Amino acid sequence: MNFHIMTLFPGMVEAVLSESIIGRAREAGFITVKEYDIRDHANNKHNKVDDTPYGGGMGMVMAAPPVCECHNAVLYGIPIGNSRRTVYVSPKGRILDHGTAVRLSRYDDLIILCGHYEGIDERAIEEVADEQISIGDYVLTGGELPACILVDCVSRLIPGVLPDPSCYEDESIASGLLEYPQYTRPYEYKGKKVPDVLLSGHHGNISKWRYERSLELTRELRPDLLKDADGEEKSGGKGKKRG
Ligand code: SAM
Repeated sequence: MNFHIMTLFPGMVEAVLSESIIGRAREAGFITVKEYDIRDHANNKHNKVDDTPYGGGMGMVMAAPPVCECHNAVLYGIPIGNSRRTVYVSPKGRILDHGTAVRLSRYDDLIILCGHYEGIDERAIEEVADEQISIGDYVLTGGELPACILVDCVSRLIPGVLPDPSCYEDESIASGLLEYPQYTRPYEYKGKKVPDVLLSGHHGNISKWRYERSLELTRELRPDLLKDADGEEKSGGKGKKRG
């Protein structure tokens, strides 16, 4: 899968997405990530990409022409026949969740537009964006961190990025429940021991223990995940944790 990130601050995005699992997935060729500097399309001698808002008010608004021209440049580089989607990351968008990440992971090319300052001239958004996605009900200074979050959670679903699909299928949210508690060595830390069942080698009992802890945790921390459309408690997520 190919990610194309349109931003005024390509270095912010590259710094995050060149490390760890995503960095290795790029090196191995499972995904590509390319940043496009909207300022390169400014078309004026001071490379100015923003201006004061019509109607008055605080801050600056990113102008439509450089955004649209940058988007054209991105489209130009995408092979004909590839499926693609352009997402504007914005606090006005639908809140990002696992289902959205799964849906977006099915495109060949995902173009992500990052706003900054007071946002982007509405005409550019109407022109280029297929949808708007928010990463939560709060406002950040720019779309670069949301873009990195989107790339990260979609990339984990791309074959090869994680060692096995179970790595994401069994995890919190994707499984329908929160994940059970995890432990590693040492066996005892600050007087607390690892639950004996995890050392028993009995796979059935371990699966049962994990499923019950998942259910308990979900009831306590995210009861909404257990409710169906009528607000009634479901029988326990999708039950994948039972093994
Ligand atoms: N004036 C805008 C408003 O009230 O809706 C907020 C602009 S915000 C300061 C600047 C940029 O940060 C936005 O254009 C968007 O790209 C990004 N951004 C801020 N909060 C976000 C969020 N919760 N989710 C996704 N993107 C966000």
